Amino acid sequence: MYDNLKKKFGQNFLIDNNIQTKISNLIPSNDLNIIEIGPGDGRLTQKIIEKKPRKLTLIEKDIDLIKILNDKFSKYGYIDILNSDFLEIDIKDKYHIIISNLPYNISSQVIAKISLLKNSPNFLILMFQKEFAMRLTDKKINSINSLINCFYKIDYKFEVSRNCFRPIPKVDSRVLTFAKIKKKLIEDHEINKFIEFKRYLFSHKRKSLGNLLKKFNLVSNFDLNLRIEDLELKDLIDIFRQINS
Ligand code: SAH
Repeated sequence: MYDNLKKKFGQNFLIDNNIQTKISNLIPSNDLNIIEIGPGDGRLTQKIIEKKPRKLTLIEKDIDLIKILNDKFSKYGYIDILNSDFLEIDIKDKYHIIISNLPYNISSQVIAKISLLKNSPNFLILMFQKEFAMRLTDKKINSINSLINCFYKIDYKFEVSRNCFRPIPKVDSRVLTFAKIKKKLIEDHEINKFIEFKRYLFSHKRKSLGNLLKKFNLVSNFDLNLRIEDLELKDLIDIFRQINS
Protein backbone atom coordinates (compact mmCIF):
# COMPACT_ATOMS: atom_id res chain seq x y z
CA MET A 1 0.00 0.00 0.00
CA TYR A 2 1.23 3.44 -0.89
CA ASP A 3 1.75 4.88 2.59
CA ASN A 4 2.65 8.49 1.86
CA LEU A 5 -0.80 9.74 0.89
CA LYS A 6 -1.06 13.39 0.06
CA LYS A 7 -4.06 15.28 1.28
CA LYS A 8 -3.38 18.20 -0.99
CA PHE A 9 -3.67 15.92 -4.03
CA GLY A 10 -7.02 14.56 -2.83
CA GLN A 11 -5.71 11.04 -2.61
CA ASN A 12 -8.36 8.49 -1.66
CA PHE A 13 -7.70 5.22 -3.39
CA LEU A 14 -10.58 3.09 -4.54
CA ILE A 15 -9.82 -0.32 -3.07
CA ASP A 16 -13.13 -2.11 -3.78
CA ASN A 17 -12.59 -4.55 -6.62
CA ASN A 18 -16.30 -4.81 -7.54
CA ILE A 19 -16.67 -1.06 -7.87
CA GLN A 20 -13.50 -0.85 -9.95
CA THR A 21 -15.03 -3.43 -12.29
CA LYS A 22 -18.41 -1.66 -12.35
CA ILE A 23 -16.70 1.58 -13.37
CA SER A 24 -14.54 0.04 -16.08
CA ASN A 25 -17.57 -1.84 -17.44
CA LEU A 26 -19.01 1.55 -18.38
CA ILE A 27 -16.35 1.72 -21.12
CA PRO A 28 -18.51 0.94 -24.16
CA SER A 29 -16.03 -1.00 -26.32
CA ASN A 30 -12.48 -2.08 -27.03
CA ASP A 31 -10.03 -0.16 -29.16
CA LEU A 32 -10.67 3.35 -27.79
CA ASN A 33 -8.30 6.24 -27.03
CA ILE A 34 -8.67 6.82 -23.31
CA ILE A 35 -7.32 9.31 -20.77
CA GLU A 36 -7.30 8.44 -17.11
CA ILE A 37 -6.87 11.46 -14.82
CA GLY A 38 -5.22 10.83 -11.45
CA PRO A 39 -4.62 7.08 -11.77
CA GLY A 40 -3.02 6.95 -8.30
CA ASP A 41 -1.22 3.64 -8.00
CA GLY A 42 -3.12 2.21 -10.94
CA ARG A 43 -5.94 0.15 -9.51
CA LEU A 44 -8.63 1.37 -11.87
CA THR A 45 -6.00 1.48 -14.62
CA GLN A 46 -5.59 -2.30 -14.29
CA LYS A 47 -9.29 -2.71 -15.05
CA ILE A 48 -9.20 -0.25 -17.95
CA ILE A 49 -6.43 -2.36 -19.52
CA GLU A 50 -8.83 -5.32 -19.56
CA LYS A 51 -11.01 -3.24 -21.92
CA LYS A 52 -8.17 -3.33 -24.44
CA PRO A 53 -7.83 0.36 -25.27
CA ARG A 54 -6.03 1.38 -28.45
CA LYS A 55 -4.18 4.05 -26.52
CA LEU A 56 -4.23 4.88 -22.80
CA THR A 57 -2.81 8.12 -21.42
CA LEU A 58 -2.34 8.36 -17.66
CA ILE A 59 -2.07 11.88 -16.24
CA GLU A 60 -0.85 11.89 -12.65
CA LYS A 61 0.36 14.95 -10.79
CA ASP A 62 2.19 13.21 -7.95
CA ILE A 63 5.75 12.35 -8.96
CA ASP A 64 5.97 9.70 -6.21
CA LEU A 65 3.18 7.75 -7.88
CA ILE A 66 4.77 7.97 -11.31
CA LYS A 67 7.45 5.49 -10.31
CA ILE A 68 4.82 2.97 -9.23
CA LEU A 69 2.89 3.53 -12.47
CA ASN A 70 6.06 3.12 -14.54
CA ASP A 71 6.91 -0.13 -12.78
CA LYS A 72 3.44 -1.49 -13.44
CA PHE A 73 2.63 -0.16 -16.89
CA SER A 74 5.66 0.94 -18.90
CA LYS A 75 5.80 -2.56 -20.41
CA TYR A 76 2.62 -1.80 -22.34
CA GLY A 77 3.56 0.00 -25.54
CA TYR A 78 0.19 1.72 -25.90
CA ILE A 79 0.25 3.36 -22.44
CA ASP A 80 1.67 6.87 -21.95
CA ILE A 81 2.42 7.91 -18.39
CA LEU A 82 2.54 11.67 -17.92
CA ASN A 83 3.62 13.44 -14.75
CA SER A 84 1.38 16.51 -15.20
CA ASP A 85 -1.39 18.53 -13.69
CA PHE A 86 -4.51 17.86 -15.74
CA LEU A 87 -5.62 21.47 -15.26
CA GLU A 88 -2.45 22.74 -16.91
CA ILE A 89 -1.81 20.23 -19.66
CA ASP A 90 -2.70 21.05 -23.24
CA ILE A 91 -4.85 18.33 -24.78
CA LYS A 92 -4.83 18.50 -28.54
CA ASP A 93 -5.42 14.95 -29.68
CA LYS A 94 -8.87 13.47 -29.97
CA TYR A 95 -9.75 11.02 -27.21
CA HIS A 96 -12.90 8.94 -27.10
CA ILE A 97 -13.11 8.73 -23.34
CA ILE A 98 -11.92 10.39 -20.17
CA ILE A 99 -12.28 8.30 -17.06
CA SER A 100 -11.40 9.29 -13.53
CA ASN A 101 -11.87 8.85 -9.86
CA LEU A 102 -11.22 12.54 -9.52
CA PRO A 103 -9.55 14.48 -6.79
CA TYR A 104 -12.70 16.14 -5.45
CA ASN A 105 -11.27 19.54 -4.73
CA ILE A 106 -10.83 20.16 -8.45
CA SER A 107 -14.06 18.53 -9.71
CA SER A 108 -15.66 21.63 -11.17
CA GLN A 109 -12.47 22.86 -12.82
CA VAL A 110 -11.85 19.46 -14.38
CA ILE A 111 -15.35 19.03 -15.77
CA ALA A 112 -15.39 22.60 -17.08
CA LYS A 113 -12.01 22.14 -18.77
CA ILE A 114 -13.09 18.90 -20.43
CA SER A 115 -16.37 20.40 -21.67
CA LEU A 116 -14.57 23.34 -23.25
CA LEU A 117 -11.89 21.30 -25.04
CA LYS A 118 -11.92 21.85 -28.80
CA ASN A 119 -11.70 18.13 -29.33
CA SER A 120 -13.76 17.14 -26.32
CA PRO A 121 -14.25 13.39 -25.84
CA ASN A 122 -17.55 11.78 -26.77
CA PHE A 123 -17.94 10.06 -23.44
CA LEU A 124 -16.83 10.64 -19.86
CA ILE A 125 -16.94 8.32 -16.87
CA LEU A 126 -16.32 10.34 -13.72
CA MET A 127 -16.70 9.82 -10.01
CA PHE A 128 -17.54 12.78 -7.81
CA GLN A 129 -18.39 13.55 -4.26
CA LYS A 130 -22.11 12.71 -3.96
CA GLU A 131 -23.24 16.28 -3.27
CA PHE A 132 -21.40 17.64 -6.31
CA ALA A 133 -22.77 14.82 -8.49
CA MET A 134 -26.29 15.74 -7.33
CA ARG A 135 -25.72 19.34 -8.37
CA LEU A 136 -24.70 18.15 -11.81
CA THR A 137 -27.78 15.95 -12.27
CA ASP A 138 -30.22 18.35 -10.58
CA LYS A 139 -33.33 19.05 -12.69
CA LYS A 140 -33.07 22.70 -11.70
CA ILE A 141 -30.33 24.71 -13.28
CA ASN A 142 -27.38 25.86 -11.18
CA SER A 143 -24.04 27.46 -11.81
CA ILE A 144 -22.27 24.22 -12.75
CA ASN A 145 -24.90 22.16 -14.59
CA SER A 146 -25.97 25.16 -16.70
CA LEU A 147 -22.53 25.07 -18.30
CA ILE A 148 -21.93 21.31 -18.59
CA ASN A 149 -25.42 20.58 -19.96
CA CYS A 150 -24.60 22.80 -22.93
CA PHE A 151 -22.19 20.09 -24.05
CA TYR A 152 -23.02 16.79 -22.38
CA LYS A 153 -26.04 14.74 -21.40
CA ILE A 154 -25.33 13.62 -17.85
CA ASP A 155 -26.48 10.27 -16.43
CA TYR A 156 -26.31 9.04 -12.86
CA LYS A 157 -25.02 5.46 -12.70
CA PHE A 158 -24.45 4.31 -9.12
CA GLU A 159 -23.39 5.34 -5.67
CA VAL A 160 -20.09 4.36 -4.06
CA SER A 161 -19.84 4.20 -0.28
CA ARG A 162 -17.00 6.03 1.45
CA ASN A 163 -15.95 2.62 2.81
CA CYS A 164 -14.70 1.61 -0.64
CA PHE A 165 -11.76 4.05 -0.32
CA ARG A 166 -8.55 4.22 1.66
CA PRO A 167 -8.16 6.42 3.52
CA ILE A 168 -11.92 6.60 4.16
CA PRO A 169 -13.16 10.06 3.14
CA LYS A 170 -15.90 11.97 4.96
CA VAL A 171 -18.31 11.75 2.02
CA ASP A 172 -19.90 9.17 -0.28
CA SER A 173 -19.42 9.27 -4.04
CA ARG A 174 -21.37 8.84 -7.22
CA VAL A 175 -20.37 7.72 -10.68
CA LEU A 176 -21.79 9.71 -13.58
CA THR A 177 -21.42 9.32 -17.32
CA PHE A 178 -21.48 12.16 -19.82
CA ALA A 179 -22.46 11.65 -23.46
CA LYS A 180 -21.60 14.48 -25.82
CA ILE A 181 -24.70 15.99 -27.39
CA LYS A 182 -24.75 16.29 -31.18
CA LYS A 183 -25.19 20.02 -31.38
CA LYS A 184 -23.81 21.93 -28.44
CA LEU A 185 -26.17 24.55 -27.04
CA ILE A 186 -23.56 27.31 -26.92
CA GLU A 187 -21.23 28.21 -29.79
CA ASP A 188 -17.47 28.59 -29.31
CA HIS A 189 -17.57 32.35 -29.80
CA GLU A 190 -20.29 32.74 -27.14
CA ILE A 191 -18.73 30.68 -24.39
CA ASN A 192 -16.77 33.29 -22.46
CA LYS A 193 -19.64 35.74 -22.40
CA PHE A 194 -22.10 33.02 -21.46
CA ILE A 195 -19.91 31.96 -18.52
CA GLU A 196 -19.64 35.55 -17.36
CA PHE A 197 -23.41 36.07 -17.71
CA LYS A 198 -24.49 32.97 -15.84
CA ARG A 199 -21.88 33.67 -13.15
CA TYR A 200 -23.43 37.09 -12.64
CA LEU A 201 -26.94 35.65 -12.39
CA PHE A 202 -26.07 32.77 -10.08
CA SER A 203 -24.06 34.93 -7.75
CA HIS A 204 -27.29 36.86 -7.06
CA LYS A 205 -29.68 33.96 -7.38
CA ARG A 206 -32.06 35.11 -4.61
CA LYS A 207 -32.97 38.19 -6.63
CA SER A 208 -35.74 38.19 -9.21
CA LEU A 209 -34.82 38.07 -12.87
CA GLY A 210 -36.48 41.45 -13.30
CA ASN A 211 -34.09 42.95 -10.83
CA LEU A 212 -31.03 41.22 -12.24
CA LEU A 213 -31.78 41.99 -15.87
CA LYS A 214 -32.82 45.61 -15.41
CA LYS A 215 -29.45 46.91 -16.46
CA PHE A 216 -29.67 45.12 -19.83
CA ASN A 217 -32.88 46.76 -21.13
CA LEU A 218 -34.27 43.38 -22.02
CA VAL A 219 -37.54 43.36 -23.94
CA SER A 220 -38.85 39.89 -23.40
CA ASN A 221 -41.83 37.76 -22.58
CA PHE A 222 -40.25 36.04 -19.59
CA ASP A 223 -41.89 36.23 -16.23
CA LEU A 224 -39.52 38.62 -14.54
CA ASN A 225 -40.70 37.65 -11.07
CA LEU A 226 -38.98 34.30 -11.47
CA ARG A 227 -35.55 33.60 -10.14
CA ILE A 228 -32.72 32.29 -12.24
CA GLU A 229 -33.04 28.74 -10.84
CA ASP A 230 -36.68 28.59 -12.02
CA LEU A 231 -35.62 28.83 -15.65
CA GLU A 232 -35.00 25.99 -18.05
CA LEU A 233 -31.51 25.96 -19.51
CA LYS A 234 -32.88 26.86 -22.95
CA ASP A 235 -34.59 29.96 -21.47
CA LEU A 236 -31.34 31.05 -19.87
CA ILE A 237 -29.61 30.70 -23.24
CA ASP A 238 -32.44 32.60 -24.95
CA ILE A 239 -32.14 35.49 -22.54
CA PHE A 240 -28.37 35.46 -22.95
CA ARG A 241 -28.74 35.66 -26.75
CA GLN A 242 -31.31 38.43 -26.60
CA ILE A 243 -28.91 40.50 -24.53
CA ASN A 244 -25.85 39.68 -26.61
CA SER A 245 -27.21 39.90 -30.13
N1 SAH B 1 -7.69 6.73 -9.44
C1 SAH B 1 -7.03 6.28 -8.22
C2 SAH B 1 -6.60 7.43 -7.33
C3 SAH B 1 -7.67 8.40 -6.89
S1 SAH B 1 -7.07 9.64 -5.81
C4 SAH B 1 -7.96 5.31 -7.51
O1 SAH B 1 -9.13 5.29 -7.85
O2 SAH B 1 -7.52 4.63 -6.58
C5 SAH B 1 -6.89 11.02 -6.91
C6 SAH B 1 -5.60 10.97 -7.71
O3 SAH B 1 -5.52 12.16 -8.52
C7 SAH B 1 -4.34 10.95 -6.87
O4 SAH B 1 -3.47 9.98 -7.40
C8 SAH B 1 -3.75 12.37 -7.05
O5 SAH B 1 -2.33 12.41 -6.91
C9 SAH B 1 -4.18 12.71 -8.47
N2 SAH B 1 -4.29 14.15 -8.75
C10 SAH B 1 -4.66 15.15 -7.92
N3 SAH B 1 -4.72 16.32 -8.56
C11 SAH B 1 -4.38 16.07 -9.87
C12 SAH B 1 -4.24 16.89 -11.03
N4 SAH B 1 -4.48 18.20 -10.99
N5 SAH B 1 -3.87 16.31 -12.21
C13 SAH B 1 -3.64 14.96 -12.25
N6 SAH B 1 -3.74 14.15 -11.17
C14 SAH B 1 -4.11 14.68 -9.99
